[in-house]
Amino acid sequence: MTQYPEGIDPESIRNAYAAVRDRVDRACARAGRAAGDVTLIAVSKTHPPEALRVLYDCGVRDFGESYVQELVDKRDVLPDDVRWHFIGRLQTNKARFVTEGVALIHSVDRVGLLDALERRAARGPNDRPVDVLLQVSLAGERTKGGVKPDGLEALYAHARKLEHIRVRGLMTMPPYDEDPQASRPYFARLRDLLAELREQVAREDEAAAAAPTELSMGMSNDFEVAIEEGATLVRVGTALFGERPKA
Ligand SMILES: *Cc1c(COP(=O)(O)O)cnc(C)c1O
Repeated sequence: MTQYPEGIDPESIRNAYAAVRDRVDRACARAGRAAGDVTLIAVSKTHPPEALRVLYDCGVRDFGESYVQELVDKRDVLPDDVRWHFIGRLQTNKARFVTEGVALIHSVDRVGLLDALERRAARGPNDRPVDVLLQVSLAGERTKGGVKPDGLEALYAHARKLEHIRVRGLMTMPPYDEDPQASRPYFARLRDLLAELREQVAREDEAAAAAPTELSMGMSNDFEVAIEEGATLVRVGTALFGERPKA
């Protein structure tokens, strides 16, 4: 029998997962999309490894973390087939912790960070490209990070010159609003920005395989709207694990 830390109730996590999974599937159906088009990322920041293990045993393999040290600690104790998503603000001097053993970095928003990731990945043991999303700030909030839309094309152009970086798509985080519909214009905008990047690639007549396809958008309060607007990755924490302890 697993001993669960205080406050972790495996049954309620399992039930929450079933409910969220069902809502994802129904949003896909409403939008005429296949359920397999959307990856549910369980955002597990601040929750102990035992809580992640409950979802792992339900078949979840995608987990999102916001803090480098926490990611590193959990990676040590969870099985190797977990796909880790780094979704938090990333300091350039911590780039080296996330170029290996992370499936996707969602929060790349500046040239200096791209260069740091490139340098590190070039030295890595397996010479594997680092998969990233470019985070876009659509509301101009300073605290959240993200490149402004008018800087996106240049950032993307820079990334494409880097041999060990592969831009897979875009990520955004709209301002919090109780009403999920308030997020819709932001999600639609991100989808349009991705379409523009894809046109940029097509104009330059590159292999279509190189064009970015992912849209990481939607959290606990608005993931269904995000799916309707084309999200391929939704990042859900509270609706799965309950409220996070306040720092
Ligand atoms: C914490 C976090 C989430 C999850 O938020 P919930 O509202 O708990 O679902 C998603 N994305 C990012 C970038 C986060 O930091």
